[in-house]
Amino acid sequence: MIALSLAEIASVVGGQTHDIPDPSVQVTGPVVRDSREVEPGSLFVAFVGERVDGHDFAAQVVEAGAAAVLASRPVGVPAIVVDDVQTAIGALAREVVRRLGATLVALTGSAGKTSTKDLIAQVLQRKAPTVWTPGSLNNEIGLPLTALSATEETQFLVLEMGARGIGHIRYLAELTPPKIGLVLNVGTAHIGEFGGREQIAQAKGELVEGLPEEGAAILNADDPLVRAMASRTKAKVILFGESDEADVRAENVRLTDTGQPAFRLRTPSGDSDVTMRLYGEHHVSNALAAAAVAHELGMSAEEIATALSEAGSLSRWRMEVTERPDGVTVVNDAYNANPESMRAALRALVAMGRGRRTWAVLGKMAELGDEALAEHDAVGRLAVRLNVSKLVAVGGREASWLQLGAYNEGSWGEESVHVSDAQAAVDLLRSELRPGDVVLVKASRSVGLESIAAALLATG
Ligand code: ATP
Ligand code: MG
Repeated sequence: MIALSLAEIASVVGGQTHDIPDPSVQVTGPVVRDSREVEPGSLFVAFVGERVDGHDFAAQVVEAGAAAVLASRPVGVPAIVVDDVQTAIGALAREVVRRLGATLVALTGSAGKTSTKDLIAQVLQRKAPTVWTPGSLNNEIGLPLTALSATEETQFLVLEMGARGIGHIRYLAELTPPKIGLVLNVGTAHIGEFGGREQIAQAKGELVEGLPEEGAAILNADDPLVRAMASRTKAKVILFGESDEADVRAENVRLTDTGQPAFRLRTPSGDSDVTMRLYGEHHVSNALAAAAVAHELGMSAEEIATALSEAGSLSRWRMEVTERPDGVTVVNDAYNANPESMRAALRALVAMGRGRRTWAVLGKMAELGDEALAEHDAVGRLAVRLNVSKLVAVGGREASWLQLGAYNEGSWGEESVHVSDAQAAVDLLRSELRPGDVVLVKASRSVGLESIAAALLATG
């Protein structure tokens, strides 16, 4: 964080200082909510959770060097006391980014936010010091904490913004007003909570509504609901995608023999070739989005193409490809799943598995509301149409829909199995896998299928 005194912080957040002998003491270290992350000079934020109350750690964190605690009641050690700590870190983040010289880039979308954020960070970092959202910390707590981790040197601040309803993105964008706002896609993620794709578009589009005139709205030309957001902003619009109308686009898109996407990057300032290290054709769209951001920030097509070609994943369990000594390849994409990402991952599996046996070990896609049955059925059918060798559907009701979809699509009895849990899937795979097989593991976060990938790799 940029150094601020306890007195300044108290004034920014409208809090009372308690047990602070010297209010001119500066907070220099990170602002954290986890007591284990406290460093000398930190500000510790005491949240009251369901199981733990951060206030209970007050004495311990001050002992460990924290300058003070941001709390909702006096705690007997140096504290700034506010009504609501979440509102307070929001206010602090807003003030800190106002003082920073950094350019703020914010992105949202239904699928690929974290992957794209990681790509943007890796491209922009080549130009100037960049701070980005760690993992997927994209909500009203994670976003301000990320913004507070920027320092005087930071030139680019890349923020992932997530939404579970109308007004969420607006709230986040007001805390940390971006100059560049990127919307990736409007899919079906969280459709159960939102009510429909139009509502999702309404919510995601809030990002471009607040952009300043001198800013840029970066929109996916291939997604009609995203494209239509151009009418909701006063900022310049830059389109990315495979469509001819896109300003930043990809030509000659293909998957290499190893299943990695390659394409000719075309930008208004030049063209260059990209061969990605990441797996899955969905990363072409993510890469174009990152390229559009970098182009807007003055990077050349060559610089961008080199960075995209060298970029890896910064966040775990997203198409993590590991080859076992016996030649079995495990693709761990267990971080999350929705219909779009399931389709993308299946296509990547098939591309990687040319001439090899391919296994799709899939579980439930959560939060689909009324569309759950149809979407699971469709994924099961797609596995058959793509000629995946075996489908292992893991879990309860949704898994049975996956398997039934496969069964109904073709005469695919033997090739699709339904097992009750991760352990059963591991037992099956351990006895059936042969050298050279490729195994994709994917489901929604709550299913926890990464345990399957871990077990397969542990016994390699
Ligand atoms: P979350 O809402 O959980 O934060 P996210 O939007 O950050 O998700 P990622 O974590 O990047 O998304 O990716 C989630 C899943 O979507 C992964 O399985 C990934 O392979 C897939 N995916 C990534 N990019 C795209 C894309 N452009 N289109 C469809 N699926 C994608
Ligand atoms: Mg994410």
